Amino acid sequence: TEELLRKSDKLSVAGQLAAGLAHEIRNPLTSLRGFLQLLQHDLKGKQHYFDIMLSELDRINFIVSEFLVIAKPEAITYKKSNLNAILQSVIALLDTQAALCNVQLLLEFQSEIPEIICSEMHLKQLFINLIKNAMEAIPKDGQIKMTVSVLENDLIRVRTQDNGCGIPEERLKQLGEPFYTTKEKGTGLGLMMCFKIVEAHKGTMTIQSQVGYGTTIDVLLPTQSNEHNHHA
Ligand code: ADP
Ligand code: MG
Repeated sequence: TEELLRKSDKLSVAGQLAAGLAHEIRNPLTSLRGFLQLLQHDLKGKQHYFDIMLSELDRINFIVSEFLVIAKPEAITYKKSNLNAILQSVIALLDTQAALCNVQLLLEFQSEIPEIICSEMHLKQLFINLIKNAMEAIPKDGQIKMTVSVLENDLIRVRTQDNGCGIPEERLKQLGEPFYTTKEKGTGLGLMMCFKIVEAHKGTMTIQSQVGYGTTIDVLLPTQSNEHNHHA
């Protein structure tokens, strides 16, 4: 219990940090965008550069907005969705990238599963993060397998298994801490967002791993208990 408590303390501090950060980044972004648009009319032949700069700015703004929603889970909107369909679209999105890394991406599910009340956008983001981490953990070639199972007590489990490098036991408790990364170009924010999204859906996420064999991440999501969040 103590470990769990400490984890949720860390999450709320991280959430506040994220909200502050997002606001701080957004103001200069908006002002940059305005000045770029003003300049656009003066420097005619350079139209193409402006288009790129504006769309890059919009992308940063989008990422920051996403981040803000995670930091304020009460701003998430929920509706009834099918988890199989969500996972299929995530796999379709990452299939090409996986193939380029020699990673086989598999999805196994029962055709009849109960719908869950969730934010599709956020669950997609959650599973994209998990699959990306799994891909990055596979050094040469390997396999990522996702399995959807309906458990008792109105719970659905999505298991993501990779046969990548694994995580040493002593590092497991650090996962989900903001800015914890072992990658040269990592942000260490992916798993924190994952924990946040799962928490907002009243679910749980557990990570098991064995160095040299791979990692298994179980996301358990309730099919009923987000009913009060659902206004559609
Ligand atoms: P980032 O991917 O930017 O490093 P994350 O929060 O997504 O940040 O992950 C934090 C760290 O957790 C990673 O740097 C990596 O060391 C470890 N990790 C996460 N998922 C896996 C996995 N499937 N296999 C091995 N290590 C993992
Ligand atoms: Mg990551």
